[in-house]
Amino acid sequence: MSETTLSNSTILADYKAKTPGSAALAEEARQLLPSGIAHDARHLDPYALYCARGEGPYKWDVDGNRYVDYYGGHGALLLGHSRPEVVAAAEQALSEGTQYGANHPREVAWAKAVCRMVPSAERVRFTSSGTEATLMALRLSRAFTGRSKIIRFKSMFHGWHDHMASGVSDHFDGSPTTGVLAGIAGGVVLLPPGDADALKACLDNDPDIAAIIIEPTGASFGQVPVTPEFLSILRAETARHGVVLIFDEVVTGFRVSPGGAQAAFGITPDLTTLAKIVAGGLPGGAVCGRRDIMDGLDFAATAAAKREKIGHPGTFNANPVSAASGIAALEIIETTDACDRANKAAADLRAGMNDVLAKKGVPWAVYGTFSSFHVFTNPENLDLTPGNLDPLSLPWERLSAKSGRVTGRLRLAFALNGVDTNNKGGGLTSAAHGAAEIEHTVAAFSDAIDRLRHDGEI
Ligand code: PLP
Repeated sequence: MSETTLSNSTILADYKAKTPGSAALAEEARQLLPSGIAHDARHLDPYALYCARGEGPYKWDVDGNRYVDYYGGHGALLLGHSRPEVVAAAEQALSEGTQYGANHPREVAWAKAVCRMVPSAERVRFTSSGTEATLMALRLSRAFTGRSKIIRFKSMFHGWHDHMASGVSDHFDGSPTTGVLAGIAGGVVLLPPGDADALKACLDNDPDIAAIIIEPTGASFGQVPVTPEFLSILRAETARHGVVLIFDEVVTGFRVSPGGAQAAFGITPDLTTLAKIVAGGLPGGAVCGRRDIMDGLDFAATAAAKREKIGHPGTFNANPVSAASGIAALEIIETTDACDRANKAAADLRAGMNDVLAKKGVPWAVYGTFSSFHVFTNPENLDLTPGNLDPLSLPWERLSAKSGRVTGRLRLAFALNGVDTNNKGGGLTSAAHGAAEIEHTVAAFSDAIDRLRHDGEI
């Protein structure tokens, strides 16, 4: 877009002009839903898009505008939107009934796929979400070890239940967030991500640690990265102390590689939590892992061991429509180069966006691994070369900083150019993102930078 076109407009005014249908729905929604939304990440100033359809790498808003989609269903859509084989499988299941209140053949096939693909999975229990999966993983760990505390790493997200609330975007001192009991927050030890010394000291001094949970590529799919070396240390230290190691692969599972981050790095945790891709883009999750730990859910095994069984109902656990969609998606991921395609798309995108920054002399950087890209807007104006940022050289607090005005405006400017990102201007690629979408996005980023400059945002 030329400077002449830009001269009388702002990002905000153009966004409002392009999305009147979303504006009207947002206004209506605010009368009905707190902040007009159903997920905190969909909160955006002045309002977020309302979407009506998705296909492949694209989605369309209610005004008919098309976007290259990097939100990817919060990470659930490694295969892009509405992959025909997945849709057909879900439609078939839907037509056969959505809820039998009974066991069904698809859950067995689904469990087989998970146990075949995920190295740590000897047994699997399906849940309805990732939040439920991490909750169960903690309970299994406590029951198995007889200990009470959990170690988490600051800035990592594991769902929204009470154990996971402090230390994600605030309350880094471990104090309870509003509505959470102090006793529950007090049972969680928060450590800095990647700090092996802090980890060792904690394990040496506290015999009451039941489990450590980690996002294996770092917080928000590598926005605050940790190294595979740190994972190796974790593996060794947890084994030494009899602590359960949980990889939260809700995002990385079936994305980083068909066997997730654990297969890519060759490090096998004791338990793994899954959601998003595991259900092929429909609601669903799972906790899987070592048989002796998972036996805490088994009627016969707990009776034989004279242990109390962990209770676990859940109306929509292993829902047959989610199971069908999950089986179809996992089969494609297992038998094609889907993960590699998504990884390559992100690598090309990161390179293209960094070229834009270098050409325009903007001291930001785009970084990431696998199918992610993260935009570092360098608020303290550090001396850096786009394309050459080592995020591990920066403190985790800098990388995990909340989205601010400039990233919000970047997202709007991207939207004006037919691209949807997360609130920090980054996102995830899918196997459906090809050269045309990457080229379009790099051009969109270039225009977005011009617009940000024109509006005085940078
Ligand atoms: N763990 C991680 C790493 C996640 O990214 C998320 C969700 O984004 C969750 C757990 C929670 O999953 P869900 O939203 O299905 O409850």
